Amino acid sequence: MLTPSVLIVGAGPTGLIHALTLLRNGIPVRIIEKQDAFQLGTRGCGMQPRTIEMYKLLGLLPDLLEVKTDPFPVVKFSSPQGNNEEGQVLPMVEKIANTPSRPISTGFMLMQERQEHLLRTRLEKDYGVTVELHTELRSFEEHDDHVVAHIVKRTPDTDKDKEETLKIDFLVGADGGRSTVRKQLGLDFLGDDSADLKEIGMVAGDIEALEGTLDQKVWRIWGDTTSNMLSLRPCSIPDKTHINFFIGGVDVDLEKVSSSREEVVKAINAITGRDDIKLGKVINMGIWRPNIRMVSSLGKGRVFIAGDAAHVHSPTGGQGMNSGAQDAINLAWKLALVSKNLSPPSILTSYTAERIPVIATMLSKTTELFHKTFQPASPEKMVEGWRRGYELRMFGVNYRKSGITLDEKYTYAEDETVDPYRSGDDGTVRAGDRAPDAPKLAPVGQTNATSHTTFFDVFSPAYHTLLVFADPSQHGEAIGGIVETTLGLPSFKDVVKTVLVLPQTSSSTNDASTSSADMVLLDTEGYAYKHYDVVTDSQQPTIFIVRPDGFIGGLVFGVEGIRKYFGLILKL
Ligand SMILES: Cc1cc2nc3c(=O)[nH]c(=O)nc-3n(C[C@H](O)[C@H](O)[C@H](O)COP(=O)(O)OP(=O)(O)OC[C@H]3O[C@@H](n4cnc5c(N)ncnc54)[C@H](O)[C@@H]3O)c2cc1C
Repeated sequence: MLTPSVLIVGAGPTGLIHALTLLRNGIPVRIIEKQDAFQLGTRGCGMQPRTIEMYKLLGLLPDLLEVKTDPFPVVKFSSPQGNNEEGQVLPMVEKIANTPSRPISTGFMLMQERQEHLLRTRLEKDYGVTVELHTELRSFEEHDDHVVAHIVKRTPDTDKDKEETLKIDFLVGADGGRSTVRKQLGLDFLGDDSADLKEIGMVAGDIEALEGTLDQKVWRIWGDTTSNMLSLRPCSIPDKTHINFFIGGVDVDLEKVSSSREEVVKAINAITGRDDIKLGKVINMGIWRPNIRMVSSLGKGRVFIAGDAAHVHSPTGGQGMNSGAQDAINLAWKLALVSKNLSPPSILTSYTAERIPVIATMLSKTTELFHKTFQPASPEKMVEGWRRGYELRMFGVNYRKSGITLDEKYTYAEDETVDPYRSGDDGTVRAGDRAPDAPKLAPVGQTNATSHTTFFDVFSPAYHTLLVFADPSQHGEAIGGIVETTLGLPSFKDVVKTVLVLPQTSSSTNDASTSSADMVLLDTEGYAYKHYDVVTDSQQPTIFIVRPDGFIGGLVFGVEGIRKYFGLILKL
């Protein structure tokens, strides 16, 4: 194994995605986990479309499609409500048709335990990297050019501790809500300390359903938290009938219910008023209490935190795991460029600058949903809380005002506000926004339908993609200059790919094939020009610089813009 450059603490979804992104960039890592076994349970099972796009970027989409399910219809019953009475279908997640720019518009369900398994399998298959169980970070010291981590490995057979001191370039704490890394960094973790929050809670876990009394097709909810409430959601594990449960409400004694399987079954029978639900063993169970907090900085020097280590909140809205995934990829490409000595360490400050506004907005959205769902003024208001806004799909999450984006088309007045969750979905395409997809792109020289590709197939977590919208018959000289500039920049070819995108009507496919761009694509159906809002007869090429995390870093019109953008990112 190569000497690791980065030590990742914690093998939840955030740590695993971070590890995979760094490895895709050629950065060796170690990933440690203090538990003796991998965590079981449903937890972050709602995968938002933007996270699925990230799985695509990381080459994980085929694995995911094999195991995911679509969101279940949610049906609400009164409590108690008899066996065969009809419930009210709640409009929780509306199924929206996929479009050419958003090929996956509605999220998937996959229990967190299975997501983590998928990620671990890929790490092992592609890189031979395994999570080191029984291994705990105890402390670290940060130096100017490295970090020293003190870790302890327990041998379960002998129960003996073995201490290890490890020197690495960077340390990333993806070590959950009680993060050792955050605490040792001394980062604040401020939030809602109100007393009424502490009174709320739920018993949450997974249980076996027996004899097919609960099918695996519907998510059922009974009652509301003004008295008692139960949620039973299928876990969708092949050949198993596990059901994820939540039990809560002011009339529920959480300590008592969580004390045994029998108490759980008793509560389920009482809240549903049904005696035909046959339940088997409890797989896992605990009391969940709301904790709403976040840091104001995601790291110091060479040490960073991501995921629940940096923000904890209510699961209403299904944003936690999804936000950790976005933290992980935002930090990883920057760490990779700094580790390769291609970028100055100063770009790492953009991790905090870009993610904190997004996280703060996410916290306020999930908290609003939390109050509607768990502290409703009326049962009707609770139903309102189950409705999930479109912005939770995260298409509008953006870094428009980031110091490492460059936009030569749109400017912002100093006092102009940007909504970190919505502005990226306002109908314009700007630097800092999600880079849209475009299908039916024909690699020049092979225009038959089978060879068509999409932007999402071309983007990579390991390089910037320069999309040069131009036509050689009109912009021949300019294209030459752009390609020469990109090739001329130091170490450019490893971390930047140039893709010339010809308009649908272009007749210069022959000229283009002689270009030294990494790829030339003909926009056969006009999707690329449409989705990127580029006019085909513009005087100058339009260049979108797509970052390794699938966001647009630069929107520029020539060589100077390209140089200026990379001047923000690379050591030029
Ligand atoms: C009931 C419930 C439902 C949820 N539903 C959703 C949902 O639908 N969608 C969604 O997006 N999110 C959801 N979430 C949130 C989601 O589960 C979390 O946001 C997610 O687990 C965070 O991942 P993480 O990797 O950052 O942290 P964790 O999953 O907490 O992983 C951190 C890991 O670090 C390890 N660790 C800690 N300290 C050390 C140390 N010193 N050394 C080594 N290892 C260490 C821990 O053992 C742990 O395995 C839900 C959460 C709950 C509780």
